[in-house]
Amino acid sequence: MASSLHFLITPLMSPGHLIPMVDMAKLIAQHNVAVTILITPRNAERYGTVLHRAIASGLPVKILQLELPASEYGLPDGCESVDDLPTFNLTKNFFDAFATLQKPLEDVFYLLKPRPSCIISDKHVTWTEEVAKKFQIPWVIFDGMSCFTQLVTHNLCVSKIHESLADSDPLILPGLPDTIYMTKSQLPGLFNPGNNARAMEILLEREKIRAVELGAYGTLINSFDEMEKRYIDEFKKLKQGRVWFIGPFSNSNKNDLDRAQRGSKDSVSNHEYMKWLDSQHNRSVIYACLGSLTWLTPLQFIELALGLENSKFPFILVVKGGTRIEEVEKWLDETGFESRVKGRGVLIRGWASQVLILSHPAVGAFLTHCGWNSTIEGVCAGVPLITWPQFADQFLNERLVVQVLGTGVAVGAKRVIHLEGEDGGAMQVRREDVCKAAKIVMDEGEEGEERREKAKCLKQMAEKAIEEGGSSQFNLNLFIEDIRLHTNKGLVG
Ligand code: UDP
Repeated sequence: MASSLHFLITPLMSPGHLIPMVDMAKLIAQHNVAVTILITPRNAERYGTVLHRAIASGLPVKILQLELPASEYGLPDGCESVDDLPTFNLTKNFFDAFATLQKPLEDVFYLLKPRPSCIISDKHVTWTEEVAKKFQIPWVIFDGMSCFTQLVTHNLCVSKIHESLADSDPLILPGLPDTIYMTKSQLPGLFNPGNNARAMEILLEREKIRAVELGAYGTLINSFDEMEKRYIDEFKKLKQGRVWFIGPFSNSNKNDLDRAQRGSKDSVSNHEYMKWLDSQHNRSVIYACLGSLTWLTPLQFIELALGLENSKFPFILVVKGGTRIEEVEKWLDETGFESRVKGRGVLIRGWASQVLILSHPAVGAFLTHCGWNSTIEGVCAGVPLITWPQFADQFLNERLVVQVLGTGVAVGAKRVIHLEGEDGGAMQVRREDVCKAAKIVMDEGEEGEERREKAKCLKQMAEKAIEEGGSSQFNLNLFIEDIRLHTNKGLVG
């Protein structure tokens, strides 16, 4: 029998946010709590296959669809996800269009049965805080970043040590038990807004999100105690205990169909590359994918492709060229890259079934941009990472895996790319850097073995965390009981 608890989940419509929140919805529903997930029609198509399978399996999940007025806000028709934006200069339009859903959500709130006991909102969807206030229920945020990043963010906000620094000045991340160096130009946008025309406007938006976030009832994090134990206690103190580490979410996708369709409708039968992986030796392939939003400039794409080719290892390279895809395709065509690497290298154009690929035994390393989802998916796969961070929290995640966890090797990216400024950027990483990092990671000597061993240990811990009796299961139960207590108090008081 379902309990009377009902959580309303409000994700940001972007794969790096929707994917983990769909996983989270399923995880919570497995604990006998009804969940309703707010989604727009295009995204309902994209994520619906996975959600409907969860519903068909008996989980108490509901989908609440609200129309996004895309064209009224200057967005192309049907553009309902950040990865559909033709240019990141339209990000604000997208956020503004999304915020208009506040009124329709309030209108249907009365119809949601049982009455929602809390809203779990992506921290970027700040307008849901007003909805929670209006209906007097807790506003819990899902922060799609690591505990490490969130602690560093807090410490920088308090210490402000970055403010007096020039872009290339090194700083030691304040208040951590480790000595970790970065430059200001590698910090997330809140501390490193860049110099483009819209930098200040974007900074103000980020500060607004931060201010609203600080008023949240609590925070849910897609991470697990064992991986971030050096930072968790300190962060819990800051949040007065109202922070729950309940990941890794990607591990909740137990069957290949869920893994294949996570974030897309593609069917596994289409995946020629899975057949190709079957033909490769165990741990021999480098899988290279820089997330859902990053598209490298042709200049940097060429370095990545040639770096992989020169490394001589088999590889899968996911191609996302954005508005400059034609230039990338022209280069591929004119240089005969694909026929040169045929049999040893596979290009995937568009969406790759990342967790399915990562779960294949042939994959020996993951070249990633260190988005938090990709980072933790790499951890769950138990493979070492080759790190090429681009923006946001990605340089921090790189430090976590390279320096703290010891499972990554950096290609040597030097500074954040400011997406909204269309900052394609100069050459930061060369083919030799990619090739060198690949060789270090795939090395069969002592150092490589040690790194692989650490990755394997983390994978085992990740698996245990979300199983019965694991730390994340325990934390999720604590969270549910906290909301239950809060709800009951409200009914009595
Ligand atoms: N992803 C995928 N296939 C792709 C690109 C991305 O499955 O071709 C998924 C990936 O597994 C992850 C998410 O999209 O779950 C990307 O989130 P992340 O935080 O790594 O980076 P972002 O895309 O937000 O920069």
